[in-house]
This record gives sequence, C-alpha cells and structure tokens, in this order.
Amino acid sequence: MAAAKIIDGRAVAQQVLAEVEDGVSRLRQAGVVPRLATVLVGEDPASRAYVGNKRRTCEQVGIESVHHQLPASTTTEVLLELVRELNEDRAVHGILVQLPLPGRMDTQAVIEAIDPAKDVDGFHPVNLGRLVAGLETFASCTPAGIVELIHRSGFETRGRHVVIVGRSNIVGKPLMNLLVQKSPAGDATVTLCHSATREVAEHTRRADILVAAVGRPGLIRAEMVRPGAVVIDVGINRVEDPDAPRGYRLVGDVDFEAVRERAGAITPVPGGVGPMTVAMLMVNTLKAARRAAGL
Ligand code: NAD
Repeated sequence: MAAAKIIDGRAVAQQVLAEVEDGVSRLRQAGVVPRLATVLVGEDPASRAYVGNKRRTCEQVGIESVHHQLPASTTTEVLLELVRELNEDRAVHGILVQLPLPGRMDTQAVIEAIDPAKDVDGFHPVNLGRLVAGLETFASCTPAGIVELIHRSGFETRGRHVVIVGRSNIVGKPLMNLLVQKSPAGDATVTLCHSATREVAEHTRRADILVAAVGRPGLIRAEMVRPGAVVIDVGINRVEDPDAPRGYRLVGDVDFEAVRERAGAITPVPGGVGPMTVAMLMVNTLKAARRAAGL
C-alpha cells in the first residue's frame, strides 16, 4: 500500500487565517478593532510559547492582543478580579486564560468567571452546553480545528465511524459532540475511548477516522489502524533528543513512521492539528467582536 497522504495543517490553517484577515479588515472598516486579552500565570516555557504564538497570529490577521503576565504566586482571587475587569472592558472581545494554571489554583472557577460572550476558548459550561445542544456557540478551538481540517482536506464525516481516544473536556468530549451533530460537518458515528476502555485496539481498528488525544507518545501503533484510515494526531509530547537544538523534539500520540505505511492520510506533529487550534482561536475572536458590534 502507498504511504499515507500527509495532511498539511499549516497550509489549511493559512487558508482559514486568510479568511479571518479579510473579516477583520471589513470589521475595522466598520470602526471595530477586534481585541483578544491573553493571560498567563507563571513562566512555564510551553505555555509561554503557546501564548507567544497566539499573539503573533493575532498580529498576522489584524487582531489586537493585550497580554497580562501574572506571577506564578498569583491567587485565584486575584486572577478572578482580572477576569471580571476584562469582562467589563468593552474594548476586549475575547479572553484567553492559558491553561494549565498552577496546580493550587481553582481552574474551573476561572473558566466559569469568563463572560460566555468572550469565552473564545469555548471552555465555559454555557458554551459547552450549547455545543452539545447543537446551538450557536464558541466551539473549543482544538475540536473545531480538527473538524475543519478533516473537511478542508476533502474527507467526509457523514456516515463515517470516527473513533476518538481521549475524553478530556478540551478535546475528546467536545469533538465527539461536534461530530454527532446533524449537520454536513458532523453526521458521524462516534466511539469515544478512554483510560477505562478495554481493548482500545478493537475499537481503533474499526475507525474510518481515528483521532488520538491522550498525551502518550507511540500509543497508536500500526496494527491498531485500519488500512486506508484517516489518522488525526492531537498529541503534543516532548521527548528527549540530544541531537535536537533544544535537547528535545515534539512527537504526537501516533507512531508516525509505522502508521503512515498503513493509513490513507495522517497529520504530522508538529504541523497538523496545532496550527488549526490557533487559527480557530482567531475565528472565535473575530466572531466575538462581530457579535459585540451587533453584526
Ligand atoms: P488529558 O490528560 O486531559 O486527557 C487525556 C485522556 O486520555 C483522558 O481522557 C484519558 O482517559 C485518556 N487516556 C489516558 N490513557 C489512555 C489509554 N492508555 N488509552 C486510552 N485513553 C487513555 O489530555 P488533553 O488535554 O486532552 O491532551 C491530550 C494530548 O493532546 C496532549 O498531548 C496535549 O498536549 C495535546 N493537545 C494538543 C492540542 C493541539 O492544539 N494540538 C490541544 C490540546 C491538547
């Protein structure tokens, strides 16, 4: 069998960003400057890199970003106060609090404090609930990016069996709910596997589209994949590599070299789902600004 088609998440993300840029420029002509507030607590290098990347992408598409850097010692109460101020600030359309927060902080309280109308990450229970009900919402960026990537790469979900491995609130659960909606972007039959699933491979082998979102390098081996399947690798894992400039390299949850010999199409890490996540954050921020302007 020929090696899998590589799904180029960077290229697809650039298409989405070009559309956002166009939307932003029309909104600016109407006198509205879309603005995203980013908040980072502490100095975790991966989180700093993610926020930096999001802010650079804002600049690329014409969205203003305002960054709030807080020390690692920040209390939940102080962060909640900042969130309340940003909720009140009419010039701010989207609020992004970079997760994970330091372990002692109450992450759920922070998520629930964000005005659902500014919740561009789509983590607020109101937005998650609306997503489950198939209502207009801010879909969380990674699941929305995965659905967009599948469709823009020419693959259908209608009537297909999608197997998702990983049930987190930010990837697996919202993705399952997007894919089962009665809509051209959904209409899939979904199996959700997790840490208590017995014989994960028996499920993954029946997938037309397999999504891995666990955070464990090499979890998905070639024999777990149906020949010709579309494989979406969400995992981002740092593995030590003395030859790499930073001493580590990024890999996904899929044994890429082996699985590409068997799959029909596969996303690389990096350069697959990651760029789509950031692109969808821009889509959501533009949407929030449009809505705030009553457009
Ligand atoms: P999480 O730790 O919150 O959830 C992991 C899930 O995997 C859990 O639901 C657990 O039940 C399941 N799991 C654990 N071991 C398993 C096993 N052996 N078999 C089946 N399921 C198992 O993780 P998360 O926040 O959803 O992130 C998952 C991965 O995706 C991480 O590597 C993360 O860095 C990455 N991620 C990438 C993006 C992106 O933009 N590309 C966005 C979010 C997360």
